[in-house]
Amino acid sequence: MIYKGSCNCNQWQVEVEVTKPLGDFNPRSCDCDYCKNSPSVIISEPNMRIDLAGGEITINRNGDQLANFYYCDSCNDLLAVGCDLNSQLRGAVNANLLRDANQLGKTIEIQPRLLSADEKIDRWGRLWGQLNGV
Ligand SMILES: [Zn+2]
Ligand SMILES: [Zn+2]
Repeated sequence: MIYKGSCNCNQWQVEVEVTKPLGDFNPRSCDCDYCKNSPSVIISEPNMRIDLAGGEITINRNGDQLANFYYCDSCNDLLAVGCDLNSQLRGAVNANLLRDANQLGKTIEIQPRLLSADEKIDRWGRLWGQLNGV
């Protein structure tokens, strides 16, 4: 299944390929200080393919410097979160960019700040999809 979307200003197009419908995803909202300041909900699964295509990008790193937060440099929408795992770029997409975001399941709050760096990377390896185009 393919779902499409874009950032607010349309500079970035997002295409997500998944093996289950959006309704089966529970978007994750992170409770760390960084994410509280720029709220977002993300979705991913290991088989997900996230293709981003667009113009300029701003990359921020969160508190522990592990994950990259990719933003449209024009409207500042979060596009995706990602990092290099075993030299493959893996990530999760901002669920609100998708046109069919209203089909998504219930949002759940996660607390990755309680995890160590190793635990986070282990978790992302099991949760995140393949991220292209950034
Ligand atoms: Zn934009
Ligand atoms: Zn966070």
